[in-house]
Amino acid sequence: MFCKKCGLQLPEGVVICPKCGENNGENIQNYPSQVIVTNQVHQSNGCATGGFVCSLIGGLASFIIPFGYILAPFLIIIGIILSIVGIVKASKVNGAGRGLAIAGLILGIILLIFIVIACYFFISIFWKYI
Ligand SMILES: [Zn+2]
Repeated sequence: MFCKKCGLQLPEGVVICPKCGENNGENIQNYPSQVIVTNQVHQSNGCATGGFVCSLIGGLASFIIPFGYILAPFLIIIGIILSIVGIVKASKVNGAGRGLAIAGLILGIILLIFIVIACYFFISIFWKYI
């Protein structure tokens, strides 16, 4: 038998080529590897996109939606959670959407810190007038 990839003559019973590593066993590897390849092609990273968009809308909500400042913390927390899921998923789909998920996570954390500081200042100012 010859290696189907590099043409090296293989000893009887040897299916994995010692030169190039090609698996020449017809029934052993072909089907599972095809399944993995099609999964990688068809999987996209919706969580990464969703996380980034939620964080972004959460940050803008205070300005563009009436009472958006009430909605903003929830949107940002959803954005952070989706971004973390997106980062975990990215490792399973060859890193697809990882950059976007990390951007969404960082954006969400910065916005959350900003909201906490803003709330702290509002409460401390409000406190003086009681
Ligand atoms: Zn080979």
